[in-house]
Amino acid sequence: MICEKCGFKSIYKKKFGIPLCEICYYFSPNDEKSFFNYVEEKIDYSVLETYRNKKPNPQKKGMFEKAKKGLVVSRAPLGYKIIEGKLIPSEKSKEVFDIFNEFVNENISLNKLAKKHNLSVNGLKKVLRNFTYIGKIKFNKQVFQGSHEPIVPIVLFNKAQDKLEKLNLK
Ligand SMILES: [Zn+2]
Repeated sequence: MICEKCGFKSIYKKKFGIPLCEICYYFSPNDEKSFFNYVEEKIDYSVLETYRNKKPNPQKKGMFEKAKKGLVVSRAPLGYKIIEGKLIPSEKSKEVFDIFNEFVNENISLNKLAKKHNLSVNGLKKVLRNFTYIGKIKFNKQVFQGSHEPIVPIVLFNKAQDKLEKLNLK
């Protein structure tokens, strides 16, 4: 059997009846609906190679924990806080939503919007491009379904990406 998400040949466990490798299992959401969306987003197992040791290594688990920590848990982006290693929307999550909403729906310059929310223009761009806000996590340059709560609707997020792209073309 192969991993349903990445095609890796070694199966670690089944979840909701779906065989997964250790890494895909580790990152899989617990909610059934998100889980099947996650499995639907196929990835190539080669992108996960960094976290799979070729030689047996007692520290494998530790490395993996570290990779995951560095990824999800090291710093919470604006609008989230970290509680027991998990991303939880903070009291600033409404502000993040407002930032996206104002950027997409109001005719306001990046400069003004940044000032209004006490951010640098670069900081603002980082917020607007952050996949965390739609419930995803970036892992080894790939975007995965995370298990945290999104604070920006995907439609709004996509509109922001379109607008950012248009601004960059000018
Ligand atoms: Zn896998």
